[in-house]
Order: sequence, then structure tokens, then C-alpha cells
Amino acid sequence: MMLTIGAFAKASRLSPKALRLYDELDLLRPERVDPDTGYRHYAPEQLERARLVAWLRRLGMPLARIRTVCALPPGPAAQEIRAYWAGVEAETATRRDLAAFLVDHLTPTSEEDTTMLELRYAALSDTGLVRPANQDTAYAGTRVLAVADGFGPAGAPASTAAVEALKTLDRETLPAGSVLNLLEDAVRGATTAVRDIAGGEDGTTLTAMLWTGSQLALVHIGDSRAYLLRDGVLFRITHDHTVVQSMIDEGRLTPEEATAHPQRALLLKALTTDDTISTPDLRLQDTHPGDRYLLCSDGLSSVVPDPTIQRILGSVQDPETAVRRLITEANEAGGPDNVSCVVADVVEAWASPRREPSQADGHGDGEDTLPR
Ligand code: MG
Repeated sequence: MMLTIGAFAKASRLSPKALRLYDELDLLRPERVDPDTGYRHYAPEQLERARLVAWLRRLGMPLARIRTVCALPPGPAAQEIRAYWAGVEAETATRRDLAAFLVDHLTPTSEEDTTMLELRYAALSDTGLVRPANQDTAYAGTRVLAVADGFGPAGAPASTAAVEALKTLDRETLPAGSVLNLLEDAVRGATTAVRDIAGGEDGTTLTAMLWTGSQLALVHIGDSRAYLLRDGVLFRITHDHTVVQSMIDEGRLTPEEATAHPQRALLLKALTTDDTISTPDLRLQDTHPGDRYLLCSDGLSSVVPDPTIQRILGSVQDPETAVRRLITEANEAGGPDNVSCVVADVVEAWASPRREPSQADGHGDGEDTLPR
């Protein structure tokens, strides 16, 4: 027995209009179309698929993806829905960060509870034990903290150019309330600077923080990382823009499998000549006295496990000693890549004497510049 489109619509709780659309989009073809009248007729067995389409629409899944799910047997279809939802959650997390940033940005701060805070910092970059040259750049100053990991033949000048562009913020007085724009402008400057140097194969990651006096604005693109150690607990506050991270997000790979994945270094985003993959993440990070931030290139995070990073950051008080210890740890694990670390402590202003900026790009004169 065949159902008319009206009867089928009623039974599947889809409108006839939706059913005609799904027919056109090849999501749900009627069993038979009358050649004379054009009337669509559906088989009762098609109800289950119609209901699945309706539920997936309700989930917000795009039609093209629904077509994929509907073509799969139940097990793989379930996996596909799981992957879709993981992607939605990752996307929502990025938007949540942006929303939090904007809320912070637009919330008036009261004068009374303003403790004077500042940063105590150190930066260090090392070639490691395997690579012939250091293409990383690390920098720490009173306002700007940055790590960049260059790749391609012009990787070293690209990472230097990106950090140089941000360093201009170290010398400026920050106008209140415009940190977001300021940082975006600086990143635009960094992108232009990288493009002036880079060819099609070159580029750099950039993970940097701008200190406003009470908050840290974070800009991030690529697979370098920022961590926060607060009350002895280590939080990673950046999301790797890598193929493996997106596979983890979609539930296709476990974090353990990712560490050994042959494509773990493949980036989805970086500062390159390609406009479409050069948009960084931006967020504003609230700070407390006692917070310790770590910026590092993947030369650290890919060989030194998070618990070890947490232990070192939690036990070594002096930022200079901490960056040295972290880099030693990476080199003891084989030092397969250039490794860069910036450690910055949020302290009350009276607790620390003024410091000179600390640059450590490791390339150029072939010597690592130690923080003073
Ligand atoms: Mg690297």
C-alpha cells in the first residue's frame, strides 16, 4: 500500500513542503511519482527514514550531512552523528570564549578593588638536539608575551617578524577598553609582516598575550600553546589548530592515539600567505595574583607530558629557572624539535622590581639569549 504525500506527511510529522524539498535534495525520494499528475507516493517503510531526517533537521545538521548519515548503515551513522555533535560543541566552545571576551571587554571595572598587578617573566628558546637551526621565536616584556614557531624555508624570519609586530605593543600606552582592537591590529601587522617574507610553503604559529594591567588578552593561531597554572592545577587555555586535534574533537581519535599519529604536526591554521587559514582565536583572560602562565612551542608539549609541565611549573619559583628546566626536560626527551618557553607570573606590583624585556629567538647569531 502506498501513502499519498498528505498521509505520509501526517505520519512522519513533516510538512508536504519539506517532503518536496527533501525529494529535490535527494534526501528522501518518493517510492513512486505519478507520471501524469506528478503526485508523489511513499511506501510505509520510508517512514523510518523520514523520521530520521526530521530528527536530524531538528538537531541542526546541514542537509548535505544528513544525506551522508542517511546513506550509512546504523553503526557508522551513529558514529557520524557523534562526530557532527563533537564538532558543534568545539565550535560552541570557541564562540563561548568570544562571548566571555566581549562580556569582560564591556563590563565596567570598579576602581575600588583594583590591586596593582604586573608580570614577572622569562623567555628562552633552544634549537633542540636534532634540528639544524632554530625557527622558533620567544619573547617576554612588560606587556607582551609571545611564542612563534616558524616553518618552511623562511620559517625563522617569519616567526621573528610575527613576534616583532606584536612587540610594538610593549612600547605603547594602552588606551583603556580597546585591547581587542589593538591586538587585532597587531595581528594584522604580524600577518602582513609574515607575508612580506614568506613564500607559499612558509608560515608561523603565533601564541601571544597582551597584559592590560589586570587582564591578559590572548591571541592564538597554530599548535603552540598557552597554559595557566592556577592553585597548583594546570589548564591548557588554547586549542591546537591541527588535523589531529579536530579528529579528537570529532571523537575519531583519542588523545593517546594522537601523540603517535603520523600527521600530528599538520596544521589547520597558521599565519601564512593563505588568507583563508590565517584567522586567529582571540580571548580575554581574567588574572589573579599568583597565576602563572606558560606559552610554549610544540617542541615542549609534544615530548613533555602535561603532568611533568605541571610539576615543574608548580615547584620552580623563579621564571628564569622554570624556562630552563622545561627546555632541559624537552632535550632529555630527545629534543626532536626547536623548543621555546615563556613563563610569566602575575604578581602584586610592589613584589617585583622592573625588568628589561627578554628576547630569545635562538637564530641569527646562533646563540640563545638568556633572560636577564
Ligand atoms: Mg615546532
